[in-house]
Amino acid sequence: MSRFVLQGATLPDGTIQDVLVDDGVIREIASGLSAEDVIDCKGLRLLPGFVDMHTHLREPGFEASETVLTGTQSAALGGFTAVHAMANTSPVADNAAVVEMIRNLGERAGYVEVFPIGAVTKGLEGKALADLNLMNQSTAKVKVFSDDGKCVSDALLMRRALEYTKSFGGVIAQHAQEPTLTENAQMNEGELSAVLGLKGWPAMAEETIIARDVLLAGHTGGRLHICHLSTAGSVDIIRWAKARGISVTAEVTPHHLLLTEQLANDYNPIFKVNPPLRTERDVMALREALIDGTIDIIATDHAPHPSEAKDCEWSAAAFGMVGLETAASVAQLVLIESQRSSWQRLAEVLSHAPAAIAGDEGQGRTIEVGNPANLTLIDPGAIRTISSATASKSLNNPYAGLELPGSVVHTIYKGRFTVRDSSLVEKTSA
Ligand SMILES: [Zn+2]
Ligand SMILES: [Zn+2]
Repeated sequence: MSRFVLQGATLPDGTIQDVLVDDGVIREIASGLSAEDVIDCKGLRLLPGFVDMHTHLREPGFEASETVLTGTQSAALGGFTAVHAMANTSPVADNAAVVEMIRNLGERAGYVEVFPIGAVTKGLEGKALADLNLMNQSTAKVKVFSDDGKCVSDALLMRRALEYTKSFGGVIAQHAQEPTLTENAQMNEGELSAVLGLKGWPAMAEETIIARDVLLAGHTGGRLHICHLSTAGSVDIIRWAKARGISVTAEVTPHHLLLTEQLANDYNPIFKVNPPLRTERDVMALREALIDGTIDIIATDHAPHPSEAKDCEWSAAAFGMVGLETAASVAQLVLIESQRSSWQRLAEVLSHAPAAIAGDEGQGRTIEVGNPANLTLIDPGAIRTISSATASKSLNNPYAGLELPGSVVHTIYKGRFTVRDSSLVEKTSA
């Protein structure tokens, strides 16, 4: 089925229209359109397909946690039509062969477009730059580079990376964590970490790196993107840098927009994450920054782990949580239910802006005639109780048991349903 009409869908701007999709492209937007296949979209919000700039798909190397297939199925169920796969796989995605392999695995799975992120340094070791140019010139056309999981803490390497990527419009996505300030750190540093007897992770461990890197970006003219902002102080630095015209963008995760350090109280490692959950004050500052544009995008940092890595005491547990299937609900809660923002802003932070920052062709486009049909339809009135089990191979879901607004009903990738009536569609050979 390549030709169909989405009937009576509500566009991001609030207008209600029929949308004709044919052969992967939006052909017509009007009222009273017909086709053999008509999908009733009354009450559903039609949005551009979401783009995640920060996903851990774990393949190659950690297939017990996730594979490209299961991770992209989870992404499709979350309304995504593209994800950027972080480079901390085994082998590390620090060369053309590995990034091309990941790109091909994504194409074979067929649920969303997979853009491999290249490592900044060889083996994520922080010692020598990986061959950024070769990864860019490969068929995977890598434009985003990150050592995520680790910080590029060497200032000279960071400077060089920002300089090298300028020639082809690349961007360096920094996991901002000064390693000397976070050795064996377990949770946000503050009164609660002292009470719980867990080693603190100070806000300044993030903020010192961001402050340094915006200065490096300003000096080199390179493009800097900051992963998972988690503190009010980080927001202040980004705001300062943008006011000075420095080329920096920033992301926030759904969990840092919703959850606080208080969840560490029961020592349940499901809430152990890097960077750690912070205070209510930080959460409020992050929300404000997302609404006013200081923070550019929401990115999930979907980080699946097998149960043995989480069913243990806090200090031994792995950092990270899954998040692809709940991201849109958290965005709706923060932007729409709060009555502070709009569906256009939601489309911006989950689709247009991440695609623009990462330079993804064909993704994050507006809903207009002639654009590729990468679309998602949400029932904004639905309220669902989140179950721990998702399409992900891993169960480390911090939202399990929570009631969240909105549910993804259909996802359309390149004009084909990957999710229909909230269920995955088996891939049919093209
Ligand atoms: Zn990270
Ligand atoms: Zn990450």
